[in-house]
Amino acid sequence: MDLYEYQGKELFRRYGIPVSEGRLATSQADARAAAEELGLPVVVKAQVLTGGRGKAGGITLAETAADAEARAHEILGLDIRGHVVTKVWIERASDIAREYYLSLTFDRSAKKPLFMFTTQGGVDIEEVAATSPGALVRLHVDPLEGCHPWHGRRLVYEGGVADVGEQKQIAAIVGKLYEAYVGCEAMLCEINPLIVTPEGEVRALDSKFTVDDNALFRHADIAAMRDLAAADPLEALAREKGVTYVKLDGEVGVLGNGAGLTMSTVDVVTFAGGRPANFCDLGGGGDAQGVVDALEVITRDPQVDAIFFNIFGGITRCDEVARGILQALAQMTIDYPIVVRLDGTNADEGRRILAEAAPAGLHVEPTMLAAARKAVALAGARSTRAGLELLGDGD
Ligand code: GDP
Ligand code: MN
Repeated sequence: MDLYEYQGKELFRRYGIPVSEGRLATSQADARAAAEELGLPVVVKAQVLTGGRGKAGGITLAETAADAEARAHEILGLDIRGHVVTKVWIERASDIAREYYLSLTFDRSAKKPLFMFTTQGGVDIEEVAATSPGALVRLHVDPLEGCHPWHGRRLVYEGGVADVGEQKQIAAIVGKLYEAYVGCEAMLCEINPLIVTPEGEVRALDSKFTVDDNALFRHADIAAMRDLAAADPLEALAREKGVTYVKLDGEVGVLGNGAGLTMSTVDVVTFAGGRPANFCDLGGGGDAQGVVDALEVITRDPQVDAIFFNIFGGITRCDEVARGILQALAQMTIDYPIVVRLDGTNADEGRRILAEAAPAGLHVEPTMLAAARKAVALAGARSTRAGLELLGDGD
């Protein structure tokens, strides 16, 4: 789960990482009141779950409370790469002498948390990595040993921080960032920029904080930070129903059992010349309710023109899945074709059950590739027909 800047900063604050004082505002009036309360000048910052807000006009300075109100008016409602701003964070403006970068993320290949630090902060870190890779210090932490003071010292020395006061503050922030990361079961904690004020004070001016979804059950306070309004409505529905679902951009709805098979299904649809509309993993079960839930989510996507149901029976028995599909179809109306491929445990019985019931619009195919081709062809036919109808050309 990605957190907003203000939420990440709240967690930073809890772990003792210095941040500026601020207030959340959802209206111009709030923004004005916040500016008056905080003291001027303030910075008005769009709260959206995407980076590069500065470049997109989502961050501006305001010298007066009236100015803060006007800036909030401009930013609220702004569309930043598909994210509409509904909240702004008003923060006491900082004077900046230098902008650094510090992050801690999980390096899957090394199976260890990875610190990255550079004194060339403020800009895209990808740019620093590409143009001056030598300026980016990388340091892994052995999760069993944990983070120790030498990690912080190594990062600041190798990063070339000359000032002793800065070295000490940054090294301390390194330790606290590790505590925040482990304490919140984060996947990413990024501070860009980590600023140095003209007085030599080091502070986190921005936050990017991602918490492991699978650990949220242990962090009710963080889970409660989820902004349901900002989430993709389909993915929100899927989460509510306990369905593993990722929205994609094509026309062929994909439903498989097991993440590996579902990934392969997405690939084979592409191979057959189609575009998958989603990734949806039915998981281990195949009971009617699971099928209904998954189909409900998939069919809510208006882009779907056909569904490819790909099941490999292991512990999950194909006959059970077949019954699940029939029960699901009895409970809901789906007005586009469904192509089913069943293989593995009790596949023959599953196919027989489907063949006997023979619901309209259901096609059973013997192989994954044949089924993918069929689903792609049916999706194509359907969208062409819809297109012709739209043109008033249908018969
Ligand atoms: P991002 O563009 O989404 O990464 O948003 P940031 O919070 O990192 O802000 C972008 C840039 O705005 C920073 O790198 C700063 O240069 C500038 N900025 C943000 N807050 C302040 C502030 O309090 N004072 C000053 N002078 N500049 C700020
Ligand atoms: Mn930033």
